[in-house]
Amino acid sequence: MIIPKTREEIELMRESALIVSKTLGMLASEVKPGVTTLYLDKLAEEFIRDHGAIPGFLGLYNFPNTLCMSPNAQVVHGIPNNNPLEEGDIISIDCGAIKNEFYGDHAYTFAVGEIDPEVEKLLQVTKESLYVGIREFKAGNRVGDVGYAIQKHCEAHGYGVVRDLVGHGLGRKMHEDPNMPNYGRRGRGKKFIEGMVVAIEPMINMGVKEIKFLRDGWTVLTKDGKPSAHFEHDVALVNGKPELLSTFKYVYEALGIESNEEDEFRQA
Ligand code: MG
Ligand code: MG
Repeated sequence: MIIPKTREEIELMRESALIVSKTLGMLASEVKPGVTTLYLDKLAEEFIRDHGAIPGFLGLYNFPNTLCMSPNAQVVHGIPNNNPLEEGDIISIDCGAIKNEFYGDHAYTFAVGEIDPEVEKLLQVTKESLYVGIREFKAGNRVGDVGYAIQKHCEAHGYGVVRDLVGHGLGRKMHEDPNMPNYGRRGRGKKFIEGMVVAIEPMINMGVKEIKFLRDGWTVLTKDGKPSAHFEHDVALVNGKPELLSTFKYVYEALGIESNEEDEFRQA
């Protein structure tokens, strides 16, 4: 059952999302060759607690850390460790926080130093597909419309759209109804309703769509060992239109990137 949120609850969820956005912004300045993912994890945990929030992933389904850190061929759910990042890596960082009992859940794939132009393209197309999907999250549409749009955008570039992992409703629980697949058919699935909040999160592989799991029971990898990218925003349906609760603004400030990509998803 989809649980719509009141305007007041949506503003609380914006606070939760913003803490995660700021955490990703802080991490953007720290991602560089030689840094370990475990070090970044500790920074993020401190940062979230200093902002009066609780790490949202730590202990959730028994996950051991604050961040999911998934380099290169890891799709999602990688566990932070003491391996240093290397020049040319990509690292998908997924972060959650709880404030006022509501979850924020938000992810960005960072380049570590200079990366291969083909990998850069994967990141760019995956992020584009996130906005292509968000644009379809509007009154009158259904879950399948978002998935269809994301799938079409990514497959046009020959990329594999992961099937086994999906976006989701968000609220007092990390995973609420409905599931939000990154693939689908137009006009199919649950109908969107005013006040609902979802995490839209394309997980896109440079090669095949198939995945496999590491023996740690968490880490998801591409089956062919090619890189994978992951971008995630939290979005509310307000006045029949998508309203972004999270923002990459802090990441872009840290990286010196100019962007107006989020403007169309902000209501006055
Ligand atoms: Mg996430
Ligand atoms: Mg999520």
